[in-house]
Amino acid sequence: MYGRGLVVAGEGNISARLVDGNILVTPAGLCKGRMSLADLIVVNPAGHKLRGARVPSTELKMHLTALAKRPDAGACVHAHPPYATAFAVAGMPLDSHVLPEVVTTVRLVPLAAYATPSTAAVGESISGLLEKSDAILLKNHGVLTVGKDLESAFRHMETVERFAQIVWLARALGRVDTLPPDEVERLLALSQHPTIPTDSSGTRGSAKS
Ligand SMILES: [Zn+2]
Repeated sequence: MYGRGLVVAGEGNISARLVDGNILVTPAGLCKGRMSLADLIVVNPAGHKLRGARVPSTELKMHLTALAKRPDAGACVHAHPPYATAFAVAGMPLDSHVLPEVVTTVRLVPLAAYATPSTAAVGESISGLLEKSDAILLKNHGVLTVGKDLESAFRHMETVERFAQIVWLARALGRVDTLPPDEVERLLALSQHPTIPTDSSGTRGSAKS
């Protein structure tokens, strides 16, 4: 994440579910580009530290909420990638079907209401949206993604950032053509997310969407 400019300084945090049900999480404050295995912390699902010398991420509550809400997810990644975060600052969800690669992976990226970082309010702001998306823009803050494993959650983060960058560039060119609904249906049928239902309008989600 640091190498790709998705975070700078002490930004960002990562969590992964361990086989025993406990959670591996990155430490607070430390630059993610200069972190070693010894810096990682193990907490239980309630957030109590079990192993590790450092203090867990200040966004631990957000990670615990995400992993509790999505038992199918093995990992959660939070970063401040510049293009996607700009959309979050502008209050603009990435809610149009534009790129086939995005439709078949993260699909749409909704925008969560602003919540003060590190507080339980962040978890509350994302919990409803996690039922229908693997990637969420956090208003005036950054991006959260989940995935079946760490690699998948990280790829979702990269996909969201590239998606935001391409939409930004297309808007600068003056035009964003969306994919026709029948093509979105075709792509969704090909991808078949294992846990998140797709309604007949081609948007991802349950009865709430
Ligand atoms: Zn953050």
